[in-house]
Amino acid sequence: MAIALAATAISFLIGTLLPENPPALQATDAVQVQNLNQSITAKELGNDRTEFHLDRAIEQLLTVLEPKEKRLTFVPPQQFQGTTIFQSKVKDSEKVIAFTVDDGPWPQTTEQMLDIFKQNDVKATFFWIGKSIENSPEIARRVVAEGHAIGNHTWHHWYHQMDAATAASEIDRTAQIIYETTGVKTTYFRPPGGVLNNGLAQYAKEQNYSVVMWSLTSADTDPRAKPQAFVKNVLKGAHPGAIVLMHDGGGDRSRTVKALPDMISGLKAQGYRFVTIPELLEMQEQAA
Ligand SMILES: [Zn+2]
Repeated sequence: MAIALAATAISFLIGTLLPENPPALQATDAVQVQNLNQSITAKELGNDRTEFHLDRAIEQLLTVLEPKEKRLTFVPPQQFQGTTIFQSKVKDSEKVIAFTVDDGPWPQTTEQMLDIFKQNDVKATFFWIGKSIENSPEIARRVVAEGHAIGNHTWHHWYHQMDAATAASEIDRTAQIIYETTGVKTTYFRPPGGVLNNGLAQYAKEQNYSVVMWSLTSADTDPRAKPQAFVKNVLKGAHPGAIVLMHDGGGDRSRTVKALPDMISGLKAQGYRFVTIPELLEMQEQAA
């Protein structure tokens, strides 16, 4: 009886915790699940020791699967679903700031930024273009493996007015390739160019996405500015709960890569710590 129940519980847990078609499930996890199943079927019925072992087995399974689930699912707290966010309303004493990195994944620059983030223990939020993922799937997988948050930034990065079917396709097709490439499900959306009235943001909100804008730009798309200008923009404008805009793709972003270490060290000197957009919104939810 206990075994039947536990087996049912485990299949249920596997069913809820894993995507239906999990591309990112590692072989090691599959082996652990298989071993658990074998150890369960091998146990004898009806003694307390067996039940104890089964409880332990379920606990172990959860410790394998829960962190993975958290790393692969980015759903905003309910109060932010279907809304547009420009910054987070945290207390002035909460010196948190969120880097957002758009238009990748991109050869070289994304990887250079990942190295800098890792050296400085910074987690950021990447808003991806569908066709960029198609070009650099390995880089996409590295971003997810290193614990950063992911959002949807459409397939083509179009600004123009779109009918509902085109807007839906821009977002859904990108959601699909994000999932197929990395196993990530995300309902964070950033509209290309910050355009809120061309049909994209409307569709995203109808689908319960949070539309994430920004409160502070590095202005790293300015073709003439030097890296130190990006650093200055960010350090001068920093405020608690700020959402910072920068880019890793869509063109030559070597100046952004150059600016990044000084941005990070300057913000740390001001007392800031770095959070992802999901973490920022969870903090605001808890403060409310
Ligand atoms: Zn963009």
